[in-house]
Amino acid sequence: MAKTIGIIGQTQYKTLPDARVSDIEIDAWRAAYAQVFSEIGALPFLIPVGPAHLAASYVENVDAIVLAGGQDVHPSAYGQTPQPTGVYDTRRDAFELAVISAALAMEKPILAICRGSQILNVALGGTLIQDIPTQVPNAISHDQKPQAWDKPTHVIDIDGGLLRKLYGTTLKTNSFHHQAIAQLAPGLTKTAQTVDGIIEGYEDPRRRLFAVQFHPEFSFATYPEFSALFKDFVAQI
Ligand code: MN
Repeated sequence: MAKTIGIIGQTQYKTLPDARVSDIEIDAWRAAYAQVFSEIGALPFLIPVGPAHLAASYVENVDAIVLAGGQDVHPSAYGQTPQPTGVYDTRRDAFELAVISAALAMEKPILAICRGSQILNVALGGTLIQDIPTQVPNAISHDQKPQAWDKPTHVIDIDGGLLRKLYGTTLKTNSFHHQAIAQLAPGLTKTAQTVDGIIEGYEDPRRRLFAVQFHPEFSFATYPEFSALFKDFVAQI
């Protein structure tokens, strides 16, 4: 039986290009998340953001959870006042926090990507840097737009963990974030950072929690080495 992967949806795309339906709210998933899991023989399921009381039932029905990229986690979740640079969806925050809580209680593995790595850290008691360009002096560029989504543009230095096992001491990755981990939550271990000190990966292998700040799902089709991360995650389920 293929392992089932529940991928939490996004909510920021509320318009379609057709003007007749452009005011209808839609759920959305970036296709790459399902594509990579299909490609490696797992069975992806797309879970819509919904009421928090449904989260545990969704988690019950899959073998593992993927927390995907997207907008910023509202700083009230870690006791701060929002900076003007933020874009938030507190409904998605509430649903994902409930999903994380259920997955931890049921001891199901979580792969957390970009925003996913940020909200998982917050759920476990950590904090975030709200805006790298205005809050981190001498930071390198972490938002490579308009360069292609798949293209690796910055090097991460790898300390240990899953990333070290798969990639050795350095890896060039893509980067599309203006926020980052500030204080890592208790129980989590940093696995990678860029030269400016921004955390690019962490994990808790005992609870099978794996997080990266970059987007391997955008790169796997053109840079096959990024499939390894997903294969290893599925192998641990
Ligand atoms: Mn980065």
